[in-house]
Amino acid sequence: MNRHRICVFIQADFFFSFICFSYILYYYLIAFTITDQEVLLSNRVNGITAIGIGFLISIIMWRNNYTNITQKRRIEAQQKQLEQMAYYDSLTDLPNRRLIDKLIKQELSLMQQQGHESVIIILDIDDFKNINDTYGHPVGDRILMQLADLLKNNIRESDTVSRFGGEEFIILMTEASVEEGFVFAERLRKIITDKKFVVGSSVLQITSSFGVSSLVHAKEQGSEEYYYQVDKTLYFAKQHGKNRVEKVII
Ligand code: GH3
Ligand code: MG
Ligand code: MG
Repeated sequence: MNRHRICVFIQADFFFSFICFSYILYYYLIAFTITDQEVLLSNRVNGITAIGIGFLISIIMWRNNYTNITQKRRIEAQQKQLEQMAYYDSLTDLPNRRLIDKLIKQELSLMQQQGHESVIIILDIDDFKNINDTYGHPVGDRILMQLADLLKNNIRESDTVSRFGGEEFIILMTEASVEEGFVFAERLRKIITDKKFVVGSSVLQITSSFGVSSLVHAKEQGSEEYYYQVDKTLYFAKQHGKNRVEKVII
């Protein structure tokens, strides 16, 4: 029995005891004011009838109330679940592209108001297709999950890491310069290179390429622009040998 039900039972028990106690009090006290036995009996019967009707109405109202509350809770839980499905990636539990788009738009207006700079970092696993081809798709999935945890554990509390799609992740680094973003991405790159991904009996290592770009580009050219800028830097990193970080400075 859950806590809520126990509380309801205690309340009902208390309510019932209170009514019984009140009626017993009424039963005896009324005898002090009425001496005629017939009138006394009729009053006692009326009393118990009124209490019975009141009790019945209370039960009906309490049941309605209880149903409303449980329905409201169920709807809230369903809404939460829908929100989770709409804004989070089911494999890694990270924010998805829809949510990061939204957060970046919010960050762009904050940048406008407060005048600070923020940075976007893109990360793409190198030769991930080979891992799927060699070890199988489920192993690839486990690596994506472990990488997501690693990223979550290594970003600042104010930053957001999202799974943008496939084996591509985007980090929104707020109130930071491109230089700071570059240093941070370089640190992450080393952590990923050193990490041993254990999946079943296999121990795997991966590398990843990074692109770092200021969000100021997007502020000037429209919020959709952020991806294209940072994607270009990622392309450079891939072109220049992978397992490296490239940046755009305005
Ligand atoms: P590059 O170094 O140029 O990035 O090469 P790559 O092999 O990583 O890139 P490519 O775009 O050729 O392949 C990406 C691979 O990522 C292919 C696709 O099957 C795999 N992938 C995308 N999403 C998932 C997923 O959810 N799970 C698994 N296991 N693999 C995925
Ligand atoms: Mg890749
Ligand atoms: Mg890719």
